[in-house]
Amino acid sequence: MHAQIEILASLQTVDREIKQQRGLKQGLLGEFQAKEKEIQGKKREIELLTTACSEKEKLRQEKDRVLQDEGKKTMDKRMRMNRIKNTKELQALQREIDQIKQNNGELEEELIKIMEAIDAIKIDIRSKEEELARLQQEWQEKQEEMESQISGIDRAVSEASTRRQTIASQVTGDLISRYELIFARRGGMAVVEVAGGICQGCYMNIPPQLWNEIIKSEKVNLCPNCQRILYYKPSIVQEKPA
Ligand SMILES: [Zn+2]
Repeated sequence: MHAQIEILASLQTVDREIKQQRGLKQGLLGEFQAKEKEIQGKKREIELLTTACSEKEKLRQEKDRVLQDEGKKTMDKRMRMNRIKNTKELQALQREIDQIKQNNGELEEELIKIMEAIDAIKIDIRSKEEELARLQQEWQEKQEEMESQISGIDRAVSEASTRRQTIASQVTGDLISRYELIFARRGGMAVVEVAGGICQGCYMNIPPQLWNEIIKSEKVNLCPNCQRILYYKPSIVQEKPA
């Protein structure tokens, strides 16, 4: 059994390597998504600003049209004034013209405000477009680097998987299943050494009776505390006859 567990321990070394590489890949993929999201967000901001800008532009055109119409009306009234001789009518017409002038003054102020708002939005759009361009540029360079990192990871994982198969073929299926279950549940540590009477997985003392069992190594012994597979690695010094 001791040999089987030693093989499991080297299987675990490979599995931990694979697990670590996969973790790295997850991290890179996460970074990928975050960056894509950031870029999409920036694009969306520009879209919204562009919509707001064209709405303001529409409003500006409407007000402009009204202003022009009112201007025409004033001109017509002025022309009429030239033809009217009646003072009362003249006064009434003058009042109408004054009213229109006042309205137009307000309209012009509104127009100026709208145009200022349009200018401000355009400035905002330009700066966001510059940010987006910079983001995309940086991302382009980073992305290539990350893609090569990811393919490096994929190569390492597939190489390790081949090694794993060779090692796994030397252990019985039952033992592998047991090991895999513990590996998954115990954060990638299923086989641990006992050193100085202490489980190296959870650092609890191993009872003397169990210690004897481990040395005998007739069966799979689990740590009573963390349920990991325990084994004892006799050091070279210990193996040498005294
Ligand atoms: Zn333990």
